[in-house]
Amino acid sequence: MIREHAVVDRRLPKVVAKGNLSEIYLSLQGEGIWVGVPMVFVRTTGCHRRCRYCDTEFALVAEKQARIWLGWRKGKPELTVDNPIAVQQVAEWVLQASGQGRLANWVSFTGGEPLLQADFLAELGAMLKGLGFRILLETEGGLPNRLEKVLPFTDAVAADIKLPSTTGEPLDWDEAERFLRLVAKAPVQACVKIVVTTDIDEGEFERAVELLAQLQTSQSDFRRFCPVALILQPVTPARFVTETPSMELLLRLASLAQRKLADVRIVPQVHKLMQLP
Ligand code: SF4
Repeated sequence: MIREHAVVDRRLPKVVAKGNLSEIYLSLQGEGIWVGVPMVFVRTTGCHRRCRYCDTEFALVAEKQARIWLGWRKGKPELTVDNPIAVQQVAEWVLQASGQGRLANWVSFTGGEPLLQADFLAELGAMLKGLGFRILLETEGGLPNRLEKVLPFTDAVAADIKLPSTTGEPLDWDEAERFLRLVAKAPVQACVKIVVTTDIDEGEFERAVELLAQLQTSQSDFRRFCPVALILQPVTPARFVTETPSMELLLRLASLAQRKLADVRIVPQVHKLMQLP
C-alpha cells in the first residue's frame, strides 16, 4: 500500500538520474495476466526495434517533450515538459496520477523499450517502491544485461518473444533465453507474450514453446513465478499490419503450445477494445 501522505524525498543526494519520457498517465492494464489492473503508465521514449505491428510508433524515436496527465487520461495532458526529466519529478507525477495511491498502486514501465534507460529506471523503481508502489516491467525481452539492473526493483515482468516472422526483424535466441532465465530465477510474477500475426512461422513458434518448456523443466522455480506460461496476443492492426489472425490459427497455435505448456491463453489487447490509451 502507498504510505499515507507519502511525499517524494528531494533530499536524497545519490539520486541524480534523468530519463527521456513519452508520457505518464493513469489507465487500466490491457495485456497479459494483469488485464484490468489500474496502473500509472510511465512510457519511456525510444526503441531499438522496429516491429511491423508496433502500436506506439510515436515513441520509437526519442521525443523532445513528454506529455503528463496527472490522473485518468482524458483530453489534453496537464503538462508538456522537456526531456530529460529527473527521477524525483517523475515520482511526484506518478504519486499525483495515482491519486496518492488511492486509484492505483501499480506502476508500469513501458515504452518504446524501457530497458534502454535501465539506470534511470533502477533509480525510479527504487524510489517508487520506497513509496509503496508495485512495479511491472513491460519489455521486448531481449536485453538481459540491462534487465539485471532493473530486476531488483521489479515485482512483475511481461516479456515478449519477438518472432522474426511477425516483427520483420531478426531475433537473438540466445539473448532471449538468457533474459528468460534471469526472470525465472527472480522472485517476480511473470508472463511471456507472443504477438500472433497472419504470417507467423509455426516453426519459430514451436521453437519458442520449446524454449519455455525447457525452462519449466530445468528450473523448478519457473512455474512458481510464471503462473501463466504463455499469452498468445492476436495482433491489433497497426503500422504495416492490417490483418488480424483467424480464430482457427490462434486455436491451432494454442493447441501446439498446450502439448508442452500447462497454461496457455489467448488474450487480445483489452485496452484497445475498451478504447483506452
Ligand atoms: S519493441 Fe515494442 S516499442 Fe519497440 S518497435 Fe517493437 S512493439 Fe514497438
